[in-house]
Amino acid sequence: MGYIEGHSRDQMLLLPASVNDDVSADNPVRFIAAFIDDLDLGELGFDRSRPKRTGRPGYDPADLLKLYLYGYLNRVRSSRCLAAETARNLEVIWLLGGLRPDFRTIADFRKTNRAAFKPLFRSFVLLCRRLDLFGRELVAVDGTRLKAVNSRKRNFTRQKLAGWIKLADERIEEYLARLDLADRAEAEAEGAARRAAALEAKIARMRKRRELHSAMLADLVASGESQLSLTDPDARGMATSPKVGVGYNAQVAVDARHKLIVEQYVTNSGSDLGFLAQTASAAREILGVEQIDAVADKGYYKGEDIATCEDVGVVPYVVRPQRGPGINEGYFAKSEFRYDADEDCYTCPGGQRLDPYTRSQKPNGHVTIRYANMRACGTCALKPQCASGTRRSIDRWEGEAVLERMAERLAARPDITDRRRETVEHPFGTIKQWMNQGAFLMRGLANVNAEFSLTALAYNLRRAINILGIPALLGAVRA
Ligand code: SF4
Repeated sequence: MGYIEGHSRDQMLLLPASVNDDVSADNPVRFIAAFIDDLDLGELGFDRSRPKRTGRPGYDPADLLKLYLYGYLNRVRSSRCLAAETARNLEVIWLLGGLRPDFRTIADFRKTNRAAFKPLFRSFVLLCRRLDLFGRELVAVDGTRLKAVNSRKRNFTRQKLAGWIKLADERIEEYLARLDLADRAEAEAEGAARRAAALEAKIARMRKRRELHSAMLADLVASGESQLSLTDPDARGMATSPKVGVGYNAQVAVDARHKLIVEQYVTNSGSDLGFLAQTASAAREILGVEQIDAVADKGYYKGEDIATCEDVGVVPYVVRPQRGPGINEGYFAKSEFRYDADEDCYTCPGGQRLDPYTRSQKPNGHVTIRYANMRACGTCALKPQCASGTRRSIDRWEGEAVLERMAERLAARPDITDRRRETVEHPFGTIKQWMNQGAFLMRGLANVNAEFSLTALAYNLRRAINILGIPALLGAVRA
């Protein structure tokens, strides 16, 4: 018995007579083609969406867009790899009608049209909305750190630079002292001249590096920035994620029904603080509802941001982080002090009344009122469990009522934090593991935003295919 044999390479019809025969009716490329052909690319902001009357014809942006969407859906993101696919991948040959743009054309298309990828992502969200794929009641907001094209060694903070300048000063001083000693030693001593030359070279190198670091520190101070990245100037050290090192922070709002991404963007902030209202309200708008619940983790607990949520039709759910010196040292938590809005006072665990006694305002306008009862604390038997000093005080943000309302909502829906985890971990897990999203390929905040829009669109597309199937999606585009 022999083996199954392929065709002879000299046979005239190795491939089917039509490439169409090789692409099944439920192949995702059929939906990619129909979806892109149905869009008004000019309206979305794509360059050259209308062909020029004169000059050499360029590639239709629709073709290059189809190629990118196919690539991101199939873990092929680099322009060189995409160019290779146009020559060897039957699905791509079908999708592009045999066109073979070179890698530079492919790369330039993504760069030139970077601002249009977010509207493209939104077009698919609107299609999913038409297909009733969103619950439109609850979104989970979260951020993930993604690596930039910038190594840790090429990222500098003011502190790091100041430390290196100080170290260089110390080293230069030490080398100069050693050089002085060598000078005073007998010039004829064996190897003295060689050692002196080596020290001088070291001092010169150290001075040069010190000069460079001083200039970088001066630039940082002048720009008002806290960090300087040499390869990708917009990338920042992500302190909360040491594995990522230098990178970006991708923010998403995910609808709880099918875990589809509704809103996404990339920032270079190392923290999630302050991004809840912005992300959730954009999701609310595109979902077309008056009000939406938004759940996020403790990293989003910021009073002003939570207050803004209520102003923009977002009902926030963020668990209060247990932080502060009281918690660290095991004293009574702030939540154990009851606030009375009518009397404007707190009642402490010892049953004593704490009244306001100071009011302070930070430069950002954040007003805090401090409550205490010095006399009661002085004789209190519970003080060892409550305070280390002479008294215990409680700070209250002026708008804290909004946080208290949120705490009541959270107490009424204890399951909501589990729903957050289930909802938001799905896209992040899929993007990082299944879609193999490693470091961003491009540099600069605007470019990585374009890249992440494509990633999020490919994730949503894969979800929609899994939920509805290609024929239903094709039907929706053609309707
Ligand atoms: S130490 Fe002061 S605040 Fe704490 S329980 Fe006693 S009286 Fe109340």
